[in-house]
Amino acid sequence: MKLYRVQAIVLNSREMRDAHRVLTLFSREQGKLRVAAHGVDKPASRKRGAVQPFCHSEFLLRCGRELDSVSQCEGRDIFPGLRTNLQRMGYAAYVAELVDGLTADGEPNENVFRLLLHTLRALEKTGDAELVARGFTLRLLSVLGYMPHLNGCVDCGGEVFTPRARFSAAAGGLICPECAPGIGEVDCGREAVAAMKSLLSWDPCKIDRIRISSRSREEIRTVLDACVQWHMEKRSRSMQFMEKLQTYLT
Ligand SMILES: [Zn+2]
Repeated sequence: MKLYRVQAIVLNSREMRDAHRVLTLFSREQGKLRVAAHGVDKPASRKRGAVQPFCHSEFLLRCGRELDSVSQCEGRDIFPGLRTNLQRMGYAAYVAELVDGLTADGEPNENVFRLLLHTLRALEKTGDAELVARGFTLRLLSVLGYMPHLNGCVDCGGEVFTPRARFSAAAGGLICPECAPGIGEVDCGREAVAAMKSLLSWDPCKIDRIRISSRSREEIRTVLDACVQWHMEKRSRSMQFMEKLQTYLT
C-alpha cells in the first residue's frame, strides 16, 4: 500500500458518517488535495487535534481508490488564538475559502502555501484582522495572476479619478468613464486605491500600523469582494458571514 508525506494546511473539514471527515488540504508538495480522515470525530482519536480547520500539520497519506486517506498526522501549528475569537476565526475561514475557491486540485504553489501560513500567523497576532484579510486577498490575486490593475484605466491607460474612480472586476481593474461599460462597476476613492497598493507590499504582521478611514475600508471591501466573486464565480460564504457579524458588532 503506497504511502506519502505532505506538509499541509487544513482548508476545510466536512463531517461524514461514522465519525469520518473529508478534509480539503493545501499542501506544500501537491497543492490542493481532498483526503478522507477515518474515525477522527471519535473522542479518543489521536488525529483529532491535527485535522481541525486552519491547522498546519504533517500528514502521512495512504493512496486509495477514490480518496487518499490520513494514515498518521501531527499538528505543527494549531493556531489556538484563531479559535477563541469569532472575528479572527471568521477571517481565517475566509482566507481558507479563497485558497480553496481560487486554486485547482493537485497544482503545487509554494507562494500560495507560504502566504496562507504567514497570514494565519498574522491573523492570530494582529489587532486588525480585517486588514490582514484584505492584504491576503490582494496578494493571493497577485500570486495567481489575477491582480487588478490599479494604475490608470485598465483599457486606455488614461486618468481614472474624476474625482472618484470606478472599478470593474470584469475589466480587471480601475476604469475611466469613457471606457466603463456602465454596468457592474463599483465606486472607489484615491485613499482606497493608495491603501490597496500599501496592503499589497506590507508585512501582514505589521499591517495594523496602516491607518485607513472607515469609508476607504468599505470601498476596499467592495472592490475585493467584486474581484473574488468574479474569479470564484460565486460570492464568498465567509465574507457574507463576516458582513452579518459586523452588523452585530457595530
Ligand atoms: Zn479608459
